[in-house]
Amino acid sequence: MANLAASIRSGDRRALARAITLIESTRPDHRADAEALLEALLPYTGNSVRLGISGVPGVGKSTFIEAFGLHLIDRGHRMAILAVDPSSKRSGGSILGDKTRMAELSRRSEAYIRPSPAGTTLGGVARRTREAMHVCEAAGFDVIVVETVGVGQSETAVADMVDMFVLLLLPGGGDELQGIKRGIVELADLVVVNKADGDLAAQASRTASDYAHAVRLLRPASAEWQVEVLRCSALEGKGIPEIWDAVGRYRDKLGAVGEIAKRRGEQARAWMWGEIGETLLAALKRHPGVRSQIADLERDVIAGRIPPAKAARRMIETFLSGPN
Ligand code: GDP
Repeated sequence: MANLAASIRSGDRRALARAITLIESTRPDHRADAEALLEALLPYTGNSVRLGISGVPGVGKSTFIEAFGLHLIDRGHRMAILAVDPSSKRSGGSILGDKTRMAELSRRSEAYIRPSPAGTTLGGVARRTREAMHVCEAAGFDVIVVETVGVGQSETAVADMVDMFVLLLLPGGGDELQGIKRGIVELADLVVVNKADGDLAAQASRTASDYAHAVRLLRPASAEWQVEVLRCSALEGKGIPEIWDAVGRYRDKLGAVGEIAKRRGEQARAWMWGEIGETLLAALKRHPGVRSQIADLERDVIAGRIPPAKAARRMIETFLSGPN
């Protein structure tokens, strides 16, 4: 693992890919290696701007990330793009699996694009993405973008692993018309109305001023930052530099009062507890005594014969009573 860590730090892309594959593996021996690797890399992590980017399918996320990434590369940055898409399976359907997305960016050595890991639970996908983020930082990527689809719980998971959460919107309509789930606008540190071009330009202006009004009514997540609403055209590359400037303002303001470091500390703590929850649950489900109870107890709970809390307690008692 020390060798692999050294190769990653020297910028070896195959080593980086191998490390992320190792992290995503569920085999216990792989997990032990992955933890050793992450520990070796830990001193070299944290030196990036961590951005979450979300929006409903079709809003232009991949077009935006491509334009944004190329702009940042021009300015000397290196960008890694990860995804959190719990619906994706190894066989396909992942939001970054499609090779035609971000075609130009994917050819650049200053960019690294990694699709969402396969996983049955959002928690499982999110924890591996966090670890992949650290590996990318150790590999020298100074901007990490975590992309997710704007359709549910994955937004919260992503907001909990980044410094700044950016929500992309379409011109026209409020949250419901745009298919945005409740609470997602509240997570945003920056709102961007995309497709502000051609026939859609006027509509994009109206949408931006509607949202600028709406976000002023929300309780700000930080006293240092009032959520900004910007417009861009990812297709024409307009408004992209202004978005990077807004990221800079955000980091300056929050960084000056130590809020980014504080947020990261809290995220690490929550991650630790999440890790405990996931690991314990997996161990409980593997326990032979518990396994032999699950089907019956689930049936009884579904039929209303046993209160759910009592069924849960019974399984936990079996688990805590010892190895069998
Ligand atoms: P995603 O599903 O959110 O990743 O969206 P895509 O990036 O795949 O874009 C969906 C569609 O919107 C594609 O046909 C894009 O060409 C188009 N699109 C993306 N950005 C813009 C933009 O700024 N202006 C216009 N007019 N179309 C755009």
